[in-house]
Amino acid sequence: MSLNNQSDSIKFFSNFLEETSLNDKPTGLQLEAFKPELFRKNVEVAISKLEKYLADDSIRGIDLTNPHELLAQAKDIMNAPSNQSGSGEQEKLAAILDLYLKTGIAVHSPGYMGRQFSGVIPLAGVMDLVNSTINQPSSFYEAAQLPNVVEEIMANELNQFIGWEPGTFGMVTTSGGSLGTLTALLAARNDRFPQLWSQGFSALEGQARPAIAVGDGHYSISRAVGILGIGEEQIVRLPLNDKQQICIEKVKPTLEAAAQKGLNVFAMVVSTGTTTMGAFDPLDQLADIAQEKNIWLHVDGCHGASLLVSDELRHKLKGIEKVDSFVWDAHKTMFLPGVCTLLFYKNKEKSYGAFHQDASYVFEKQQDVYTQFDRAKQNFECTKRPLIMNFWVTWSIYGRKLFADKLEYLCKLAQNAYGILEQEKDFQTVHDPEMNIVCFRYLPSNLDEKAFPEFQVMIRNRLKEEGNFFISKVNVDGKPCLRVVFMNHKIEMVHFQLLLREIRKIGQEILQKAAKL
Ligand SMILES: *Cc1c(COP(=O)(O)O)cnc(C)c1O
Repeated sequence: MSLNNQSDSIKFFSNFLEETSLNDKPTGLQLEAFKPELFRKNVEVAISKLEKYLADDSIRGIDLTNPHELLAQAKDIMNAPSNQSGSGEQEKLAAILDLYLKTGIAVHSPGYMGRQFSGVIPLAGVMDLVNSTINQPSSFYEAAQLPNVVEEIMANELNQFIGWEPGTFGMVTTSGGSLGTLTALLAARNDRFPQLWSQGFSALEGQARPAIAVGDGHYSISRAVGILGIGEEQIVRLPLNDKQQICIEKVKPTLEAAAQKGLNVFAMVVSTGTTTMGAFDPLDQLADIAQEKNIWLHVDGCHGASLLVSDELRHKLKGIEKVDSFVWDAHKTMFLPGVCTLLFYKNKEKSYGAFHQDASYVFEKQQDVYTQFDRAKQNFECTKRPLIMNFWVTWSIYGRKLFADKLEYLCKLAQNAYGILEQEKDFQTVHDPEMNIVCFRYLPSNLDEKAFPEFQVMIRNRLKEEGNFFISKVNVDGKPCLRVVFMNHKIEMVHFQLLLREIRKIGQEILQKAAKL
């Protein structure tokens, strides 16, 4: 028989089900746990907790729990008998959520100044609930139609600030900047050494060793180098200036010295917004050198590429249109939940260069209108979350301005904090901040630095334990300093002043305690 239209087929199916009386229906918990009514009840529990959480403007950092105690508490909740009928499920869920919220860093509080993950735009959190519930893994068009189309839309939206010819460039989302950089460097490696993919490194015997030149790189870069089989010893370090940017005058001599040593530098990785202190390497000039030397230029813009959306700050990425690839973590300075990384390639063709595969269960020999939108050939993940959706929804509803305004505010905050630190005799600034990261030291006159080489780290750890502020630390020129990252628009200068007061109090307590010993 043929089923001509939908109502015919519905009739056919229901008749069939009536006539066939096999006794194999699902029973019990399967029916209960998947009931739509339960979904609403559980979501309501979560919403009421999250609403309170978001509305709490108190100044706080982290409530640090001993992990052994936390483990015991978590186990107790897990093992408590839960009554499946009635409200037992909601009670257990509520207890778990309380523990989860209580033990997290308070990313929406003005006391949170510590890391690059952000208080999330609440709408993006709502979208994440939707993403998880409908579960559309986005490497293949047929499994996630809208996310795959939306990647194309967002690539073109954001290209307004880059300036490539439409249709000539590539963009793919990856689960984090570390994976994005690994993917781009794999594409760069395959571009220079196409034989490696099938033959491995034995194909290069007797030739100059593949190498990568790096400035003040995030640790994900040396990991990528390890994974790609390049070997850490083949990382060429580009000298930095006193702003921790790549020192442009020394780039060519360093590359030439590397070539003399028998290294074949195929890629250069530079940063717009280093993790250490948010330094911006001089892209425009680096791109010219890369072009002259025929080296793939990859930009780690995980932290700082967001400045592209601000008319006021975009100039810091001058030259971005000349680079071969760059990564941009929207889960950092676009204030989205982890993770959403965009990996851009100047040349669309080359975005397909990282991976080669043959797997008949997903890849078709003949592309059709649908499979042309598959992202799987450009990204490592097979099952991949629809990363772009949170970004697209917030962008569609609030537009560029939300992001630009917030970034401009946070960068101004960093400038003002720097101004305050410059005025205070017992604080030492380490740099004039280029973005939203400020590094400094507390150096009171009664401190003997030699006796307390870890003084800044001790302060940072005590601050964390006190729980009012959460900041981080980092080494600059081999010496520890305090590191503040402004990710949160609830922070005002008064909060930074309070932080300095707390640092002084804690610092003096540490010194007094040591003097008594
Ligand atoms: C955070 C960060 C990374 C790592 O990105 P993930 O998304 O955490 O994997 C790489 N480089 C820089 C400059 C970063 O700030």
